Amino acid sequence: MGGFKTITKCRSCASGEIRPFFSLGAQPPANALPLGSSKKEKAYPLSLDRCARCGLVQLHETVDKRFLFSHYLWVTGTSGTARAFAEQFSRACLARAGDMTASYVLEIASNDGTFLIPFQKKGYRVLGVDPAKNLVALARRLKVPTTCAFFGKREAERIRARRGAAGLVIARNVLPHVANTRDFVAGLAAAVHEEGVVVVEAHYAKIMLEELHYDSIYHEHLCYFTFKTLERLLNEFGLFVFDATRSPISGGSIVVYASKTKRPERVSVRRLRATETKDGTNSLSSWRDFAKRAREHRRAFVSLLRREVLAKKRIVGYGASARSSTLLNFCKINRRVIEAIADQNPLKHGRWTVGSQIPIKDPAEVFAMHPDVVCILAWNFKDEIMRNARRIYGYRGPFIVPLPFKPAKIL
Ligand SMILES: [Zn+2]
Repeated sequence: MGGFKTITKCRSCASGEIRPFFSLGAQPPANALPLGSSKKEKAYPLSLDRCARCGLVQLHETVDKRFLFSHYLWVTGTSGTARAFAEQFSRACLARAGDMTASYVLEIASNDGTFLIPFQKKGYRVLGVDPAKNLVALARRLKVPTTCAFFGKREAERIRARRGAAGLVIARNVLPHVANTRDFVAGLAAAVHEEGVVVVEAHYAKIMLEELHYDSIYHEHLCYFTFKTLERLLNEFGLFVFDATRSPISGGSIVVYASKTKRPERVSVRRLRATETKDGTNSLSSWRDFAKRAREHRRAFVSLLRREVLAKKRIVGYGASARSSTLLNFCKINRRVIEAIADQNPLKHGRWTVGSQIPIKDPAEVFAMHPDVVCILAWNFKDEIMRNARRIYGYRGPFIVPLPFKPAKIL
């Protein structure tokens, strides 16, 4: 089977002491949504390793990025929650940045530019970098200057030669997704000014571990960072963390602020290190237990849905994300259980979920089917989805929310 490689060394510290602990079976690439049902879908093994030296939890497999990113269907601006968060995020970054008057904001994996727009509105110069051609075109239409490229040390040096060093370098939810982890961090260090600030946001593996976000495991999500494993990696490239906050994105993320010149550490940094030590966040036994709990969750979730099917209830899903792809495929749920999935992103309408083969439609179309139960697959946007279902579509039935922790039915 071609199209993927397996690792022999830790993606972060390059040690050979990587140990497997959780296999999710063969899964198709989560974002490659086909236009119809197909028997010929490619699937690649999906499993987790933990590095015995630095503790990083990571995918054992790397699927060739040409199969993953070239036509990325996730558009940041389509989520109202993301747009509101962008404004708040820009303020948090600027509060920690140094003097930005002669400098600019560089965002890696800037998607459609949603997160750079608040900086532009405040009068700052910006530059986005993204590998997806369709998103770069969208960003340029929104007047956000964007370069189409995969980011790494070479691209960083090219940008620096052309535009100078950046005062703020932002990498939101991208570091966990790049295959060449070390080259990417070397790029962050190369792009930022000596007095500048690097901001890295990543899905927080401690929350994933505790709240059982096994649906955040998919081929594009290669590294699962805790505060300690992320800090260790940044340190290796001369970036020192001085502040850290939590963010609600992806159901729980951390945002770390680092600089080349050491700054006084905020209390949040010491607190994160201490809690991870106390809770055994980076230990192998915690992660083995996570794998066991994920298998138990699958049994509970499937039997909850099965009860509805046996009672002749019509179930639809809401949210066709990469995460829902893992959840549906790991639990082997198909359109005999969930008939259709509503999604706000028009780029996904008319496509089918990969593997599980469920049609994705406009929410209005799905609610017109008069479902009896709505299963909220994009559960990290639960509140927004429930509100819209009630107010916009007049839906009065119950919701099934698969995660966090345990599957739940909300009346
Ligand atoms: Zn390691």
